[in-house]
Amino acid sequence: MPPQPLDLLRRVFGYAEFRGAQAAIIDRVIAGGDVLVLMPTGGGKSLCYQIPALARPGTGIVVSPLIALMQDQVDALRQLGVRAAFLNSSQTWEEARAVEQGLVTGAFDLLYVAPERLLTERFLALLDQSRIALFAIDEAHCVSQWGHDFRPEYIQLNLLHERWPQIPRIALTATADHLTRREIVERLALQEAEQFLSSFDRPNIRYRVVQKDQPRRQLLRFLRAEHAQDSGIVYCLSRRGVEETAEFLHGEGFRALPYHAGLTAEIRRKHQAAFLRDDPLIMVATIAFGMGIDKPDVRFVAHLDLPKSLEGYYQETGRAGRDGLPANAWLAYGLSDMAALRNFIDNSEAEERFKRVEHHRLNAMLGYCETTACRRQVLLKYFGEELPRPCGNCDTCLEPVQSWDGTEAARKALSCIYRTGMRFGSNYLIDVLLGKDNPRIKSFGHDRVSTFGIGRELSAEEWKSVLRQLVAAGLASVDVAGHGALKLTEQSRPVLRGEQAVRLRRDPRPRGRPGPFGRDQAGGRDGGGGRYGGRSDGHSGGREGVLGGDRAGRGDRRPSGFEGDPEALALWERLRALRRALAQAQNLPPYVIFGDITLRELVRHRPRDEEELSQITGVGAVKLERYGADFLAAVAAHAAEHGRPAG
Ligand code: ADP
Ligand code: ZN
Repeated sequence: MPPQPLDLLRRVFGYAEFRGAQAAIIDRVIAGGDVLVLMPTGGGKSLCYQIPALARPGTGIVVSPLIALMQDQVDALRQLGVRAAFLNSSQTWEEARAVEQGLVTGAFDLLYVAPERLLTERFLALLDQSRIALFAIDEAHCVSQWGHDFRPEYIQLNLLHERWPQIPRIALTATADHLTRREIVERLALQEAEQFLSSFDRPNIRYRVVQKDQPRRQLLRFLRAEHAQDSGIVYCLSRRGVEETAEFLHGEGFRALPYHAGLTAEIRRKHQAAFLRDDPLIMVATIAFGMGIDKPDVRFVAHLDLPKSLEGYYQETGRAGRDGLPANAWLAYGLSDMAALRNFIDNSEAEERFKRVEHHRLNAMLGYCETTACRRQVLLKYFGEELPRPCGNCDTCLEPVQSWDGTEAARKALSCIYRTGMRFGSNYLIDVLLGKDNPRIKSFGHDRVSTFGIGRELSAEEWKSVLRQLVAAGLASVDVAGHGALKLTEQSRPVLRGEQAVRLRRDPRPRGRPGPFGRDQAGGRDGGGGRYGGRSDGHSGGREGVLGGDRAGRGDRRPSGFEGDPEALALWERLRALRRALAQAQNLPPYVIFGDITLRELVRHRPRDEEELSQITGVGAVKLERYGADFLAAVAAHAAEHGRPAG
């Protein structure tokens, strides 16, 4: 009798049930069928080939382009007692030979191979001598010539099908758009494959956009309030932005490292390894960082600059919260971002056709930022999915945004741009509108134009928001070459003439004042954390927070969920320290020992013996044997100190 999938899931991985389409996918592959799996990051793709590889005789061959991460994937599997290995250019000749030998003798359940290695005649010949359970093609979107991750070797992977037509193939990707999907099917000859398309929603990620003001200060407030002890990624557009932000955070007492293409390969490798292994750590990076980062407990992704497209934004934010626990996607955005990106596109060498597409993408990004509707609905709609109701877990849902009739304000602003000769940036224009006593204004004689002082009904902050929205809507433009001067566009005219009404969003409270994400988040179940990150301030969610659902999309917003309960928090920190020590001793990332979900359940259920411990999510047979005694001892020692019984 071959082992049953559910049995493997429980015994090897320590999970209770399959998620979503996993069971159907796995059955199909075990039965020998080809499949194409489209699932968002964190959806649980790896199990879809790992379990069939264990259930079918022979070795599962996994093609993966991410050499730097193979080691970690293999380490994680070995921790589960799975016989796994990898073959890539990072190995010595002897090491590679040993792995090849093991393949032929059937020593592995799973073998990870870089595509260029797989395609060598030498390796193909080895496969001929070996028993193969399946071929898994990870990051299958790498066959797409139009994508950013194109790998020429991927195109040749259809030879697997030609050479071993009876071996099932499973292609996996988190990129779902129609074009890419079609390319995958064609190039990998997957016409016969069954397709499994999951929802791309990531309900545990909370989306939020703030009006950029002093971005680093804003970031700092956000981190202090919500992520004082967490790992996360901060994305910046430029290398300089990365360096300065990392330094700034470091100066403010956070552990932060830079990552960008200007650093040597050695430093990048070191920083990436630190991000996976040290806990907590903030990676400040350009978008060069992140593909294939499997770290499950990235608690936030912050953008200090506007991404170029929603595709990129969704991919980058998707790196948060793979473990399903609450995570944040936070974006600071302002007029200058928009101007810089528009200008970047216009001044690029690309063809007109290409520029049009890029502008179109940027406009979708701006639409997301400026929306008064549920952000998740906007995002999913862009990717062709309909979310029937507002999500309840984004900023516009949590604090509905008012819109207002901005027709008059828009006319005043546009008129002011015109009267001052379309040569000035937003700060100057706002000073004119407010009638500020400013020597520069006097020297240009702009204290005598008709729009001087006609905007006193709004604050500088509000005018900033108006100007930003006018540019986002194309009713004005920014000339970056002209030092950010605002100009009128063809579309300004009907507004100026009063023929077109303008509705604007009222940006939620400006900086300084407590915002919607202060003390009372999502129905006030923040367990006492709130703005005072990590410290208990007596305003306690109490046991409620502790008992909150595990894969909590809402409710208590912290991975531990124990901030209101010092006794539980002490155990949580104790278990974290134990995990860290065990990981360090083996030079492994801590999450490879146990994930946050497991630690959280340990605090909730306080197992007293192996039987109880084996019921906890993520505790499979091998980990029980390896680490069970240590964790049981920690729980017991904690109970002895705190006089709270286990069980
Ligand atoms: P993907 O490759 O799709 O981004 P992963 O395979 O890394 O996602 O899975 C994301 C997380 O969810 C991992 O920590 C994994 O162990 C966990 N996971 C996957 N399937 C299940 C399941 N059925 N039950 C519990 N946890 C699961
Ligand atoms: Zn929403």
